[in-house]
Amino acid sequence: MLKDQHILRIPGPSPIPPSVGRAMNQTMIGHRGKETKELLERILPKLKSVFGTKQDVIPVAGSGTAGLEMAVSNAAHPGDDVLVIVSGAFGDRFAKICDAFQLKLHRIDVEWGDTIDPQAVQEYLQAHPEIKVVFATYCETSTGILNPIEQLAKTIHESSDALFVVDGVSCLGGVEANMDEWGVDIYVTGSQKAFMLPAGLMFIAASERAWKVIEDNPQPRFYLDMRVYRKNLEKVSTPYTPALSLLFGLDQVLNLLEEEGLENVYHRHIVMRDMTRAAFKALDIPLLAADEDASPTVTAVRPADFDSETLRSAVKEHFNLTMAGGQQHLKGSIFRVGHMGYCSPADVLQTISLIEIGLVKIGKDIQLGKGVQAAQEIYLQQEEK
Ligand SMILES: *Cc1c(COP(=O)(O)O)cnc(C)c1O
Repeated sequence: MLKDQHILRIPGPSPIPPSVGRAMNQTMIGHRGKETKELLERILPKLKSVFGTKQDVIPVAGSGTAGLEMAVSNAAHPGDDVLVIVSGAFGDRFAKICDAFQLKLHRIDVEWGDTIDPQAVQEYLQAHPEIKVVFATYCETSTGILNPIEQLAKTIHESSDALFVVDGVSCLGGVEANMDEWGVDIYVTGSQKAFMLPAGLMFIAASERAWKVIEDNPQPRFYLDMRVYRKNLEKVSTPYTPALSLLFGLDQVLNLLEEEGLENVYHRHIVMRDMTRAAFKALDIPLLAADEDASPTVTAVRPADFDSETLRSAVKEHFNLTMAGGQQHLKGSIFRVGHMGYCSPADVLQTISLIEIGLVKIGKDIQLGKGVQAAQEIYLQQEEK
């Protein structure tokens, strides 16, 4: 095995394109000089297209969770009633943050592996008109589902005045975001998932209605005060030293997305999802989520007759292929394959093929190549469309 070859197929961090790696290696510049201003001038408009918004998209140094905390501390006033819809570990994180801010927490819990039912949210909001903010996760990374954000936004706005805050950390950049068109009030994402960068940057954008709530929110906050970032963006600058090397990389990521075309990027992710799912189906290995709920960025697999952890260790040992395990109560019973960001159908074929070898190594009786073939067929069918 090549010791320096790491095949990283977890739902973040994800692999970095070589040109992005080189871009991040640029000589350091002053954060108050004209180079940084020019860098931000290139980056900011392109970020808006990824989010699907006319609003400012604010880059902040911090991991995705800092973005979630920024959303909570800016969108909810002290003591507000808030509704968190929990469809897995990351919805649960939103609830924990709301708890930390001592908000009046309402929760709708969805069975892990299922998506949120807009009807249930509508009924809850009608019965609880005091709710000021609704939080949901777009791709629930822990289960590999994609929640119906467009329908949820519609339902929430029809049945209440609440703001709708969405965690898009594990999918923005890989799936449609359509912030303005769908009516998402606050979107958050991170750098190390579909954005093809190392961890350390998060991005947040707010709608006009959300900015009104944010502007006169007395909630104590300092580094994560969105108002300060917005004020500085007017001068194309940042209040504190930005993560410049990550911004160099981001500049190149946005070039890559533009060259490929966002529509093609989104299509590539859908093809990778369908290839991955077809492979496991062909191998008779159950998937956690239903086809219509599955995320284009990560697939969760729930084997019935072998141990997820044994398979993960086998592919790690033989090929240095890293797959993710389950979180919380799904620990040990599922494994997750990431296919986001710098990942192509060719990578998916490699991953499936290595997983097949891993399955044989752990003693599962499969026909080699069956999963690969199913994935190849999906690729060819997609090409014809
Ligand atoms: C990874 C992830 C986060 C947390 O991001 P960190 O960068 O680890 O803080 C939040 N939400 C979702 C949906 C994620 O996948």
